[in-house]
Amino acid sequence: MNERPVVVIGTANRGKSQEIALVLEKAGLMWKTLTEFSEVPPVEEDGRTFAENARKKASLLAGALKHWVLAEDSGLEVEALGGQPGVLSARFAGMHAADQDNYKLLLEKLRGVPLENRHARFVCHMAVADPEGRVRLEVCEVCHGRITEEPRGQCGFGYDPVFEIPEYHRTFAELGPVVKNAISHRGRALRKLVPLLVRLLEG
Ligand code: IMP
Repeated sequence: MNERPVVVIGTANRGKSQEIALVLEKAGLMWKTLTEFSEVPPVEEDGRTFAENARKKASLLAGALKHWVLAEDSGLEVEALGGQPGVLSARFAGMHAADQDNYKLLLEKLRGVPLENRHARFVCHMAVADPEGRVRLEVCEVCHGRITEEPRGQCGFGYDPVFEIPEYHRTFAELGPVVKNAISHRGRALRKLVPLLVRLLEG
């Protein structure tokens, strides 16, 4: 039986990479992270949409590394801020802002906004490109919640401490990786994508 090709997880974000690896591992797929390659080209995330950025990352990285690459672009859209920070989620408080700076700025901007108007959603657009750099699969999923007034919880990354799932009365950072994967934008996208990817790699 032919071995399935390795899939490179095309993100430098450790939090994302760990969440994706967990699911690929369970599906029996062989995977590598970008840290295992000595020369990774920089990819400027200059798209206007999550889809544009995800496609660009997957295609450029796959072509350069000559491997299958699964890339994603994701972020937070806050209703009271007209969809901000959106594609700028990682850079909300500045080019090299830390996660804490970003969510503190978000809490600042929402100060005084009542709980019922703090609706937000995470969006995750995933794209898979083949070793020639052609995009072969795409999926997009969302996860609805609301922004808390104070950060809570220790797990995860990014905006996890301020993103609450109302039904659970817990933030992603309080729920931990297993529950987060079961309900998050990234978890949902992966559950849709992985069976398609397995079939594609076998074909
Ligand atoms: P990018 O896809 O590299 O542009 O980064 C997306 C940014 O959105 C991350 O740096 C986080 O700030 C935020 N983000 C995306 N997904 C999550 C998540 O699951 N939890 C918390 N923050 C997230």
